[in-house]
Amino acid sequence: MNAAPDDQLRLLDVQELDSAIDRLEHRRATLPEHAAIEQLTERKSALGDDIVRAETEDSDLGREQAKVDTDVEQVRARMRRDQQRLEGGQVGSPKELENLQSEIESLHRRQTELEDAELEVMEQREEIQTRLAALREELAGIESSLADTAASRDSALGEIAAEIEKTAAQRAETAATLPSELLELYDKLRTSSGGVGAAALHRGQCQGCHLQLNTTDLNRIRDAEPDEVVRCEECRRILVRTAESGI
Ligand SMILES: [Zn+2]
Repeated sequence: MNAAPDDQLRLLDVQELDSAIDRLEHRRATLPEHAAIEQLTERKSALGDDIVRAETEDSDLGREQAKVDTDVEQVRARMRRDQQRLEGGQVGSPKELENLQSEIESLHRRQTELEDAELEVMEQREEIQTRLAALREELAGIESSLADTAASRDSALGEIAAEIEKTAAQRAETAATLPSELLELYDKLRTSSGGVGAAALHRGQCQGCHLQLNTTDLNRIRDAEPDEVVRCEECRRILVRTAESGI
């Protein structure tokens, strides 16, 4: 294949722009914000689960507390009634009086038990509510970090997109000046050779595979017509001769 030496040199410009776009795309895919957002999202989900568990525990304890409250209230009402009967002189026989007093005593004991249980439930609830508050605070912190990180990611993505757009426009402009046959070969090689389809021959070294060319190959390239498109014998990339080729 033949191409004017100027076209071959401009192909190196196209290569440089393509490599710049590749680097930008790599940067876009590997922004540290992506990993940070993933981690924060995982933590947020775990916290959400912890909060649901703690809320369930709290509402269970709330029901328990209400039940104890009701029981305490019932015992108190019963005691008031007994007390009124005692004070109202409605109790006839000593046997009945004895029964009543014994019932009041047992109600007292029951009240003490229930009040202890109530206190315990209240303490447990206080503990769980303290834990819930800490979990919710941590969640709020995570959500705020997530928002900050997403904003930073979006700003970086915006900058990269603008840079890619600018570079792609330059690339299209430069590529438009090249013969289509040369571009097709370059694109094909670029796809099959890790993004580099054309490389300069620099001081006897292929800048595509970074191997030093042997004397035979260098002689062959030196003897080739300036508009012949030469290829690296090692990596098959288009090898562009420049003023610094060392031939
Ligand atoms: Zn090479």
